[in-house]
Amino acid sequence: MSPTDTPPDLSAVAAALGSLAPEFEVRWPDSCESTNTELMQRTPADDGRVHVVVTSKQTAGRGRRGREWLSWPGSSLTFSALWRFVPGAPVPAGLSLVAGLALALTFEKLGVEGVQLKWPNDVLVHGHKLAGILVELLPGRGRTPAAVIGIGINLEIPHGVHIPDQPGVTDLKRELGSAPGREALLAAVLTDLHTLLNTYAAAGFGALRGAWQQRNAFAGLPVQISGEGGTVSGNCIGADEDGALLIRSDSGVIRILSGEVSLRLHP
Ligand code: ATP
Repeated sequence: MSPTDTPPDLSAVAAALGSLAPEFEVRWPDSCESTNTELMQRTPADDGRVHVVVTSKQTAGRGRRGREWLSWPGSSLTFSALWRFVPGAPVPAGLSLVAGLALALTFEKLGVEGVQLKWPNDVLVHGHKLAGILVELLPGRGRTPAAVIGIGINLEIPHGVHIPDQPGVTDLKRELGSAPGREALLAAVLTDLHTLLNTYAAAGFGALRGAWQQRNAFAGLPVQISGEGGTVSGNCIGADEDGALLIRSDSGVIRILSGEVSLRLHP
């Protein structure tokens, strides 16, 4: 059994959350299809708290556009949080960028060097993917807007695993020498998310844009964006005031709002 493959200790999560603990309701099933699916399909009633589902084993972890998120019991932290916003809050634009920034701040406080953000939803270290984010909006007109923010963090990728379609991947053990405990890491991420999402809800992405731009993995570099609408090339400017991606192309500055595209360095 690896050190992180032990049963979860919810009281340790509460202790690490400190005064924020009452704001969260944390559930930690042994396994589930995907923590996002769990909250999307069995959405808890609004009791004023942020509902969190964590699991040691996802049987069908998801990324964007039907892609797979790979995780291994004891070697990953996979969880989702259901965040509700007051009506009129700037959801969804910018939400996955804010979640990425929260993760970046947590990793930096742990001592990870070279943390970068790749628009719209990846956290990298020196170009290697350390964590992924999947934001899904809950349908429901007239109700408080709500989003499920799913996060997968690599603690220690098992030897011999191949992760498809990625130029490089990494984990916290490689970056820090040892992986932090899941409970403390979960509480640290939830704390940073709490702070940043409150800022975002009150002031929009503009208030966090500078911090995001500082960590833009592709700042000033030639990139290609591909999606259903084709491919666009140019130099990456970064994120706009509302979280849209800005690219300087031969025909001027292009704004890309939909996250349903892949951003890559120009080959
Ligand atoms: P890309 O990362 O290619 O720009 P994306 O942001 O749409 O695409 P996500 O939806 O965030 O990707 O995540 C799914 C992709 O992440 C998978 O296709 C795979 O390449 C990669 N992946 C899956 N599991 C892991 C993991 N544990 N660590 C790092 N990368 C992973």
